[in-house]
Amino acid sequence: MTDLATMLRARIVAHGPLGLDSWMAACNSHYYASRDPFGPAGDFTTAPEISQMFGELIGAWVADLWTRAGRPPCRLVELGPGRGTLIADAWRVCSRTPGFAEKVALHLVETSHTLRAGQAARIAAAWHDSLDDIPHDRPLIVIANEFLDALPIRQFLGAGHERAIGLEGDDFVASTIPSGFCDKGEACEPATALAAALAKRLQTGGGAALFIDYGYTGSPALDSLQAVRHHARADPFADPGAADLTAHVDFTAFAGAASGVRVAGPVAQGVWLTRLGIEPRAAALKAGATPRDAARIEAALIRLTAPAAMGALFKVIALTAADWPAPAGFDA
Ligand code: SAH
Repeated sequence: MTDLATMLRARIVAHGPLGLDSWMAACNSHYYASRDPFGPAGDFTTAPEISQMFGELIGAWVADLWTRAGRPPCRLVELGPGRGTLIADAWRVCSRTPGFAEKVALHLVETSHTLRAGQAARIAAAWHDSLDDIPHDRPLIVIANEFLDALPIRQFLGAGHERAIGLEGDDFVASTIPSGFCDKGEACEPATALAAALAKRLQTGGGAALFIDYGYTGSPALDSLQAVRHHARADPFADPGAADLTAHVDFTAFAGAASGVRVAGPVAQGVWLTRLGIEPRAAALKAGATPRDAARIEAALIRLTAPAAMGALFKVIALTAADWPAPAGFDA
């Protein structure tokens, strides 16, 4: 019995079933604070852990946008950097752009102190608990991969009820609590709040934001919650804080909350990476590689771009201030 399970049981006994968003927030905060979950030996593998090409192309996207914006003093922000692989690969590319390293300050928003330590071993930055803590004095360029999917969701079940987690004896079980909403479907309130807050900041201070995640457009999903442990599906209510809890990102809701900025996409990750030049980058890396490494690079290229792999489920969306240039990769 973990301390988290004990604490959650006490909370449910005292106050009744716990809303799914509170459950997901408590579980994920414990989960990320207590381990490095990435890669084959962990629970799941993200795009930057598959290949350096992913972070490099994001770096090229940032450097291109910053250059076309007139090379202003700026703050580059990554939300939820995980192992720091994406930002290390991106920064290597960005810092080759004349003036970038001098004019752009790096900020990482990360709540897990365990993961912060790993990030600090890879790159120099300023760390923050929230985007709000980053100074408002300069334009922001924000990047985030698989960040929104980890934010807590609510599941409205119709007829004035929403998903909650209750107790049967010592076991956590799916339950419901009353809610003020009659519609059915999921809502990720921290994601829409972030889109709104970010849009306001970009509108007043300038800049852009890039989000890559798995998700959909259209009407809200009914039940996209999933728990992943050791690269397999797990029960999201069985062992709190032991599995990664995620939900598909509702890009329609996210874009709808970003008022006063231009929204580009979402486009499929495979399409976006191809437009940014992942194929020539893979060819260049393969040219100097051993046959074994060349095969690994080719496999990574396919995994990141093929519609049957990550290429279609994962999508890319960008928000830009009205007076900033259009971001690369969104127009054919
Ligand atoms: N971007 C990385 C990691 C994705 S996992 C990659 O692609 O590999 C989600 C990341 O977001 C982790 O670093 C986790 O600790 C962080 N995170 C989750 N919820 C957060 C929150 N509310 N605020 C800040 N960071 C959060």
